[in-house]
Amino acid sequence: MEKYVLAIDQGTTSTRAMLFNHEGEVKFKAQQEVECLYPHDGWVEQDAFDLYLSVLNVINDVLLKNNLTYDNIDSIGITNQRETTIVWDKNTGMPVYNAIVWQSRQSNSICEEWKKYENQVHQKTGLIMNPYFSASKIRFILDTIPDGQKRAENGELLFGNVDTWIMYKISNGEIYKTDVTNASRSMFFNIYTLSYDDELLKLFNIPACMLPEVSESSSFFGYAKALKEDLKICGVAGDQQAALFGQNCFKSGESKNTYGTGCFMLMNIGEKPLISDTGLITTVAWKIGDKVTYALEGSVFIGGASIQWLRDEMRMIKDAKESESYSRKVTSTRGVVVVPAFVGLGAPYWDNECRGAVFGLTRATKKEHFIRATLESIALQTKDVIKTMEKETNIHISTLKVDGGATANSYLMQYQSDILSSEVLLPNCLETTALGAAYLAGLQTGFWKDLEDIKSVHKYQRLYKPNMKKSEIKIIDKRWKTAIKATRMFK
Ligand code: ADP
Repeated sequence: MEKYVLAIDQGTTSTRAMLFNHEGEVKFKAQQEVECLYPHDGWVEQDAFDLYLSVLNVINDVLLKNNLTYDNIDSIGITNQRETTIVWDKNTGMPVYNAIVWQSRQSNSICEEWKKYENQVHQKTGLIMNPYFSASKIRFILDTIPDGQKRAENGELLFGNVDTWIMYKISNGEIYKTDVTNASRSMFFNIYTLSYDDELLKLFNIPACMLPEVSESSSFFGYAKALKEDLKICGVAGDQQAALFGQNCFKSGESKNTYGTGCFMLMNIGEKPLISDTGLITTVAWKIGDKVTYALEGSVFIGGASIQWLRDEMRMIKDAKESESYSRKVTSTRGVVVVPAFVGLGAPYWDNECRGAVFGLTRATKKEHFIRATLESIALQTKDVIKTMEKETNIHISTLKVDGGATANSYLMQYQSDILSSEVLLPNCLETTALGAAYLAGLQTGFWKDLEDIKSVHKYQRLYKPNMKKSEIKIIDKRWKTAIKATRMFK
């Protein structure tokens, strides 16, 4: 009987189940959209029970529709939207508040109050003080529900990110664990000692008894008894770390960028954490056996979203794909530069106040130039993050591994390679997040023997090689820097 590793990918917009074979190919998959709730401006919540049900649905779907049973599954790997916070009642197993989604700003004022702890947080957790992370979301829930703090201190409440919640439910409450990658997004996990930091917990007044045990990313978490008595869960990682693993970025310096709505860059920095002083985040990439691997992380807020803006607001294109054909109709942007700072600029500028701008318009500017300049801005912003990482680590990224929806655009990928003077490598399986979770689980069970075994089956579909003169890159860099500077002056 053919065996597969089942990857569960619980994301912000959908839940997916995929079955991977030993070649690292998706043989079967099922997907279900999940709903977001917006109770107030800037608040984003989800029904935690619905998230769990969506997991059961996609697992049933992928098995039933393909005439498979649980006997076909070697083990389960889980990857999840990070930081999203769920608190539930230990006795009933029911959530006491909606899941607060990572993007939600409802705990902003708590972080304002905690601003004084910023340096401690940064030095111990590698993060920046921000409502994205779980700590202020837990605080919000304990302050909002009746007797929250008291119930937590009495051991009546449990906290988990989505990985913990799913494991708890599909094990009939027997597994109460998380992995180091998810724990490292809580804002109270010490990335040096790899344990919850008592001092930070005290400052945030979060009782340790409501926190899950932290395990290695590739380890035996327990049995998914609600599905089948002896079905093992053996891999867990937050989505971006899972993608880094799925991209086979196993060595220090190896990096991936995901081109989705925003862009998420992660660089493997090896076995020692490095605390950034340019606003990059340090995070645990994974832990396998005794070996911990760390990563630097930086993000671009508006990546593929700028193409959606061209489509929906500017109405210059009907479909994201057209951004490529329009860009190829002209030989340059004719001096046009678009800075899509719609919500400010992230690393390395960290400017929340500035807004988007367009430069270099002339009477000859056509929409083709405008579209091309917008597309190029995705690669230029990525370059800013990459150069920051290279500077901090003293490592040159000679090959950038890529994934995400906008990698379908070969103009963008070639341009990225050109302006970085680096190769850009597109894997065969674009489901790198789910693949990473599958690899972590399969490594534990022997489905894949070791990292070499994984590397030997991992395939690539396309390699972009840089092909731009240094003098041209210099002009592009200078124009971009000037545009950023001017954008930041206009407030
Ligand atoms: P997310 O996971 O953030 O929802 P996806 O990885 O599904 O994102 O990618 C979707 C994003 O990619 C959208 O913002 C879309 O505009 C962009 N995109 C999709 N196809 C293309 C394309 N051919 N060229 C440029 N951008 C694209």
